[in-house]
Amino acid sequence: MHFDTLALHATHQSDPTTGAVVPPIHLSTAFARNEANELPAGYIYTRPNNPTREALEKALATLEGGAVGMSFGSGQAATMTLFQALRPGDHVLLSTDAYYGTPALLEQVFHPWGLTYTRVDMTDLDAVLASIHENTRVIWCETPSNPMLTITDLLTVSRIAHDAGAICVCDNTWATPVLQRPLELNCDVVMHSATKYLSGHSDVLGGALIFKHNNEFTQRVRQLQSLSGAVPSPFDCWLISRGIKTLGIRVRAQTATAKVVAEFLNGHPAVETVHYPGLPNHPDHILIQQQMNEPGAMLSVQVKGGAEEALHFIGKLKLFTRATSLGGVESLIEHRASVEGPNSNTPQNLLRISIGLEHAEDLIADLAQALR
Ligand SMILES: *Cc1c(COP(=O)(O)O)cnc(C)c1O
Repeated sequence: MHFDTLALHATHQSDPTTGAVVPPIHLSTAFARNEANELPAGYIYTRPNNPTREALEKALATLEGGAVGMSFGSGQAATMTLFQALRPGDHVLLSTDAYYGTPALLEQVFHPWGLTYTRVDMTDLDAVLASIHENTRVIWCETPSNPMLTITDLLTVSRIAHDAGAICVCDNTWATPVLQRPLELNCDVVMHSATKYLSGHSDVLGGALIFKHNNEFTQRVRQLQSLSGAVPSPFDCWLISRGIKTLGIRVRAQTATAKVVAEFLNGHPAVETVHYPGLPNHPDHILIQQQMNEPGAMLSVQVKGGAEEALHFIGKLKLFTRATSLGGVESLIEHRASVEGPNSNTPQNLLRISIGLEHAEDLIADLAQALR
């Protein structure tokens, strides 16, 4: 089946008891036993499992082609639970360009607890090989990366991981399974901030892990999810399932607009550089064609000048909302260095753009008047 059909059917279970076409939200935290003290449907309590969450988790596994899906209260909760499944003394390899919360968790939570980590440029495969330690357990990739849109060769990096006895995890938030399927490129785990494209409407916080195999490590993460309770509410699960129904159509439409916007910005005299996987001048143009179906709807632009020029430009925009986050139906723009704070390596003239579902011509007209 094609992705759109899978996404729709994976999230569409009409209710057998009432015939309701849209499944109900199971808010109950506890589930009754029968006269023989059995749990007829297998549910006992909502922290370990809940029917609405289970439906979402099955859909997540289907979308990424994994054996097991798990959902969490946020992307960060998903990342944290995966790291909790490691042991003190283990080592993690993480890309230099990554969502800032991932290294922040490693530094502020897991380093004191006994994990060590190294940051490496994942586009430099020799550097990746050279950074492997004998206790490396996880190589954490994010591609396209945040905010520089660098591309990691998932097939090669997962081979490096497996040769070292480690697993390869891919944060697939920006690409989504519509554009990139890391498990098919031999990654072991896919992570998502479901807050972004999966839910797609900037109104729910959620996270996901999808495992290629149901092995001991997968079961350890499942146990931690159940014990520690970093789980989404049934209502949030229902909203994410609803979002997934339109994931394909949204991401493809947003990508089509992003391509036109990137081309417009790339030729503009007030612009220094555009970072977008769909431009022929992207350094990994060939790898992108092998690894992704389409280049996606995220881009970063460096305007001529510094922070002042960048902030002046976005101050004049009328259609783009100046806000953090991404993947919703409305276009957002953000001065990333301001959000990341004084230790940020992000260039001061860089603006990150998440393209929404507005018409491309209107977005370009808005950018043009603000750059004038
Ligand atoms: C937003 C984001 C996260 C964190 O997810 P939350 O849902 O905000 O906890 C992780 N990785 C990437 C690439 C993100 O964009």
